Amino acid sequence: MAIERTCIGCRNRDSTDQLLRIVSKDRHIVVDVARTASGRGAYVHSNPKCVSQAVNRKAVTRALRVSGDIDLTALQDLAT
Ligand SMILES: [Zn+2]
Repeated sequence: MAIERTCIGCRNRDSTDQLLRIVSKDRHIVVDVARTASGRGAYVHSNPKCVSQAVNRKAVTRALRVSGDIDLTALQDLAT
């Protein structure tokens, strides 16, 4: 059975092969393409709507439990 995670943009659950995994690294958001990065990950659909919702609501920082400033550039790039 496929593993399901919640998209931090639209808040719908989906199988992880439909979602991008993102992690925080040195106060930057990194898209974990290989899905091997350690630490807490968050998931978002790879469509611009979900990504921009995630950026606007700062859901990323909450989902990843990071505080303070974090560079969301990598995520914002996905929304374009
Ligand atoms: Zn979504």
